[in-house]
Amino acid sequence: MKQLDECHEVLADPYRYAERFKAEGRRKIVGTFCSYAPEEIIVAAGAHPLRLFGTGEKIRLAEAHLQSYCCSLVRGALEDALGDRLAFLDGVVFPHTCDSIQRLSDIWRLNITHCFHLDLVLPVKLDTPSARQYLIDVLNRFRVELGAKLGVAITDDNLRTAIALYNRIRGALAQIHQLTGDRPGTLKGSNLYTLRRAAMIMDRTRLATLLEEVVSELEGVPKEEKKPERKRIILSGGVCNHPDIYTVIEEAGGTVVGDDLCTGSRSSGGFIDEKAEPVTAIAERVLERVVCPAKHMGLTDRADHLVRLAREKQAQGVVFFLLKFCDPHAFDYPYLKEALDRVGIASMVIEVEDRLPADGQLRTRFEAFIEMI
Ligand code: SF4
Ligand code: SF4
Repeated sequence: MKQLDECHEVLADPYRYAERFKAEGRRKIVGTFCSYAPEEIIVAAGAHPLRLFGTGEKIRLAEAHLQSYCCSLVRGALEDALGDRLAFLDGVVFPHTCDSIQRLSDIWRLNITHCFHLDLVLPVKLDTPSARQYLIDVLNRFRVELGAKLGVAITDDNLRTAIALYNRIRGALAQIHQLTGDRPGTLKGSNLYTLRRAAMIMDRTRLATLLEEVVSELEGVPKEEKKPERKRIILSGGVCNHPDIYTVIEEAGGTVVGDDLCTGSRSSGGFIDEKAEPVTAIAERVLERVVCPAKHMGLTDRADHLVRLAREKQAQGVVFFLLKFCDPHAFDYPYLKEALDRVGIASMVIEVEDRLPADGQLRTRFEAFIEMI
């Protein structure tokens, strides 16, 4: 599929892609770290949101600022910034989420001075009556601050255009998920990962068209009468930076039919009302989207969602994919596992740093899990 080749090219070197994109005079680049960054407002400001993951370089410079027990995402991004690999950035947005990102924000503000720095202090508790109004106020303030940093006025029309674009992107991603979930094997899991990851990096206007082209191609694939005998798996956790995980699961006899990942459905889920006041509508989506462990939305909201997702996708098992030293997800894991146990859905957990454990070791664990479910 030529659309996948295009995404692979982008992902081969996201920083070079962003540099080229900027040099062509297309947009200023604003780095983001988390799915709570309001990308719609960044796009409405005429800038390009680039999700930063770190390039996996050996940590040397960041060592002087961060403890070795910080997650590899935070350490890797700081290493890239200190190593001058992010010189093309015009600004960075730090949503108020986990402790590590909040501390990274402080360190960044003091040490990386070539680009602007904006904190976005989102509410932590999302289920209180005041949270909604507070969130709207914070986003309105962000709209003004970002506009000032970029030297533009962000109009309601700009916001509506960006919202419509993101609805197209999220709609196409949801359709791709639905189509591949209904017809396992139509698109390899690693290719699904490629599309999702590219969705956080590439030009969003081109992305929307590219994803819609993929939907058309997938719709044209005839539905097989007999589905391949594969165990249906949900991936749950934080940031998944490892396309190989999908391949190893498939080689062990499984197929990923849904996810609850920051780099997956949590960042692309939900639509924004195109008729409502735009900032309020963006806030409503944040309140309605699936919550992450760095936010609070009732005591069992995440577990309820995971159980619902597993049932809806007829999954036989859930694989918790945790980044080492990611406390928010590690704290959520026991109660999520308990909720799955209660309804008889099997689960396993793997913890990774910036690289996956040796191939054979992982495959043996997945094979054992898949045989058991
Ligand atoms: S777990 Fe929450 S805070 Fe962390 S990256 Fe995901 S969405 Fe952001
Ligand atoms: S949520 Fe976890 S993976 Fe994401 S930045 Fe925080 S500690 Fe790192």
